[in-house]
Amino acid sequence: MKKIFVLMLALVMVVSSMCVMTGCGQDSKKKLVMATNAAFPPYEMYEGKNIVGIDAEIAKAIADKLGMELEIVDTEFNAIIGGVASGKYDMGMAGMTVTEDRKKSVDFSDSYATGVQVIIVKEGSAIATADDLFADGATYKVGVQDGTTGAIYCEDDLGADRVSSYSKGADAVQALIAGKVDCVVIDNEPAKNFVAANDGLVILDTEYVTEDYAICFAKDSELTEKVNGALKELIADGTVKKIIDKYITAE
Ligand code: GLN
Repeated sequence: MKKIFVLMLALVMVVSSMCVMTGCGQDSKKKLVMATNAAFPPYEMYEGKNIVGIDAEIAKAIADKLGMELEIVDTEFNAIIGGVASGKYDMGMAGMTVTEDRKKSVDFSDSYATGVQVIIVKEGSAIATADDLFADGATYKVGVQDGTTGAIYCEDDLGADRVSSYSKGADAVQALIAGKVDCVVIDNEPAKNFVAANDGLVILDTEYVTEDYAICFAKDSELTEKVNGALKELIADGTVKKIIDKYITAE
């Protein structure tokens, strides 16, 4: 009897030490790797060394629901879709607008938020409405973030000559302050953050385009349905709204 007990104890010890070595429990959770561009407040930004924001929190809630461990990778916005499509990342979440063109390369989840492309100008700018910017014969230059829908629309509507692309929205805003461009076209929530952080800038009342944000996945990925199922539940139980309200105070 005693022998069996000792044997069992030894077995337990071997198994538990194997767990330490190979990482049972916590550490063996499957990773969910999310690509983002952490320069898009309040959806994703740095707080010290951590990436926080609406997307980071929703993604964490999704990972928790699926029993997975979230890893957030910061990269250029422009590199997210390619990286997701090739399987380098499990998903892309970056205040990303659903477009027909992007759907050719990736699949999207349900939409969890709305974005609006707005126009930032310096106070007292001759550009008072979107119509001024797009008027025949106008020569105003626009700053945009590379690879974003704002950049794509402006290049289509104004021609590439009038559009300067920057890798971060904040850099486009600095170009506006320095007088290199006459306005910046970017999503409304980051726009509000950039205007609050810099004196002498305003957002025009006229909105340019309204769009849906969603999570992207490699085409036909098994994860799409799982993550989307978790997202649906988090939308239905009010978690997503709570996270958005925490970062965006209603006007
Ligand atoms: N919503 C815009 C897009 O999808 C911008 C996103 C971003 O810059 N993170 O293109």
